[in-house]
This record gives sequence, C-alpha cells and structure tokens, in this order.
Amino acid sequence: MKAIDKLKLIAPEMDLEIGGETEKRSSMQPPTPPVCGSTGPPADISASTEVLSRNANAKQEALGITKASMPGGKKITLLKTMITTACERNCNYCTFRAGSSCRRSTFTPDEMADTFMKMNRAGMVEGLFLSSGIIKGGVTSQDKLIDTVEILRTKHEFRGYVHLKIMPGAEEEQIRRSMQVASRVSVNLEGPNDRRLALLAPKKSFLMELMEPLKLIEKIRSTEDPTGTWNGRWPSSTTQFVVGAVGESDLELMITSEFLFRNAGLSRVYYMAFRPVPGTPFEEIPAADPWRQHRLYQASFLLRDYGFDLEEMAFSQGGNLSLTMDPKHAWALEHLSEAPVEVNLAEQEQLLRVPGIGPKGANSIIQARRRGKFRELKDLKSVGVNPHRPAPFVLLDGRRPRYQLRLPIQ
Ligand code: SF4
Repeated sequence: MKAIDKLKLIAPEMDLEIGGETEKRSSMQPPTPPVCGSTGPPADISASTEVLSRNANAKQEALGITKASMPGGKKITLLKTMITTACERNCNYCTFRAGSSCRRSTFTPDEMADTFMKMNRAGMVEGLFLSSGIIKGGVTSQDKLIDTVEILRTKHEFRGYVHLKIMPGAEEEQIRRSMQVASRVSVNLEGPNDRRLALLAPKKSFLMELMEPLKLIEKIRSTEDPTGTWNGRWPSSTTQFVVGAVGESDLELMITSEFLFRNAGLSRVYYMAFRPVPGTPFEEIPAADPWRQHRLYQASFLLRDYGFDLEEMAFSQGGNLSLTMDPKHAWALEHLSEAPVEVNLAEQEQLLRVPGIGPKGANSIIQARRRGKFRELKDLKSVGVNPHRPAPFVLLDGRRPRYQLRLPIQ
C-alpha cells in the first residue's frame, strides 16, 4: 500500500487525539474517543502536493494534517498519525482494537520518517504527532516510535515539533530516550482510576502502565540534566481522558487531574467527550454532552492557572459540575457577590478569582495601576479586560460599577 493511502486510512481516527498544546478545535464539537495512533506518507507525496494546493483543507484533513497551537501561541500544521494501526489490546471504544475487521496499515520507521520529511519539504506539515497501536508488546512498539524520531533528528536533522506517545509497557530507558528526542510526550490515562480504566481498556494497567510512567517523566525532568536532549530541554507532558462512556463523575476526573498537575507536572490534561464508534463494544453507548467536556476544561484551568483547589469547586451530589455555568462564575456568585474585589488594591491571586480576569488581564491591571486608578468599567476595557463578566464582582475605587445584567454566562 502506498504511504499516502496508509495515511488516509489512519486519518479519520486521528481526530480523537489532541496533538498540540492547544489544538484548534471547537470545544462544542464532540470528538471521538482516542486511539493510540498516527501514520506518514512515502514517495508519492510530491505528486499529491499539487492536488492539496487545490483543495487544501479537505485534502489535508484526509491525510491527518491539522492546525495546532504551540506553547506561546504559535500555530503550526501537524501531521497526526500512527506507525501502525495493528493492535493486540482491546480498548472498548477503539476502531483499531484486536479482532476488529478494520483495514490496518503499518509503516517502518524509515518509511514514516521519509514520508514526513517529504511532506515537510513540500510545505505541507511543520510538526509530527506520532502514536502507535501495540503489537508484540509496548517495548517493541515504543522502539519503533523512538527509531522514527531518531531518524528525523539525526538523518534528516529535523528541528521541529514532535509529540511522541509513550506506549503502555514502555521501559524506563525507552521513556528517557523518548524524552530526549521529542518536544512533548504523553501517556493517555483514558480513565480517572483503575476501576474506570478496566471498563474502557480491559488490557491496560492503570498504575503500572500509565500512572507510573507519567510520574517517571516528571522525575526525570526534575532530577536529570537535559544534556543529550535534541534541544537542551526536557519535553512537556500531557494526558487524555475519555469522558462519559463508563459512568465516571467529573469529580473523579478532577481528583486525578489535580493529582497530575501537582505531582506529575503535566502541562495539560485533555478531556475527550465520548462518541460511539460503529463496530466497537461501545457502539450503543450515547455520545457525551460536549458541554461536559467544556466545563471540565474550565475546571482544569482553574486548578492549573488560577490557584483554585478542588474543594472550592461546586459539584452536584453525583459529583458533576454544572453543565450550564462556568465553574469560576459559580464560585464567584457564592463568594464575591457580597464581597467584591477592589480592583485598585487586589493582589494578583484575588484578581484571578474574578470571572473574566485571567493571568494576562490580572498582569495588565497591576501594571496599569502604577499609572492611575481604575474608576469606571471602561478603564478595564482599556487594559484589554472585557468588563461584562467582572462587573458584578468588583469595586472600582470603592464603588460598585453600574452594569447591565446579561445572560448567559458560559
Ligand atoms: S491500545 Fe487501545 S486505543 Fe490504542 S490502538 Fe490499541 S485498542 Fe486502540
């Protein structure tokens, strides 16, 4: 099979994986559950370049090419693919599970690296997200992933972004080597604990195959010299959960997310609203509400960037966040309605508690205070903060600002 045809086979399933720092995707667009893989095209790529230029978006998506935002906000085109879609595991949501009748495709490391570089030189892709099904164990599969990136970094001297998956069962030295050649590594936990994972992916071990590697990555990053890495820095790490397929609560997901932020130094936790895939054991399970995914992201940012603790968030008796209200707004209604924050005096952490004020806005406010007082809502606007959401929860020079109530708050 031609490499380009292999890429096309894999691409539809790669929508399930988040490849970049903040891949551009509508938070309200339900994604499908994640699979492990990604692929690359070989010698026929140059022939396809002309076609791609004519109908760029559709053609790029057909190959697994997507736009992703990197740390710092730069957007790049990313090839998301798998080195093989053959797999001996049996994750209940996945097209490529063992025994599935789907068509499979496999690249050699050389073929994958050559294919990617042809696409890169043709201006089609700038970075690579590379995963794999698991065949002959995680160690063998991880070796092929590492071989591919080593070929890219050495033979092709590729200096761009590579997000590399760590396979369940990969050994410590393989994890270290993956970190030396990648820009980012990830281990998908899939479920928030062993009980939920057993329902999602019966052949994966939550603690030994997934959680321990995430902790090891952080240990290496925080204790070992990055000499020997391709760019002199250890890579960031992420994980991903399948949301809504096996009855887990938002609280379960947030407990594990908080643990990972505090103890495994994760840059990002991704939440993928479940969507059933025909032909899998989960094909009859209804798709998860995409608003749930949206609220989970909002809550995780409160944990990661806003100084919130889990105990401060409002969960229902069943352990879920409100689908209809931003968790930060819910907190502010309870705590700031009668105790508004004085914008001219508040510390950064107090400003971050106000809906509509993020890390950038809080910094802008603190800097602008050196030049004069905030007296009206338009003063907030002048430093780039939309005053609509903060208005009910702030004082400006000792007075509550006049504002019009607007709904809804999302
Ligand atoms: S390990 Fe699971 S999610 Fe990954 S390719 Fe295999 S069956 Fe799919």
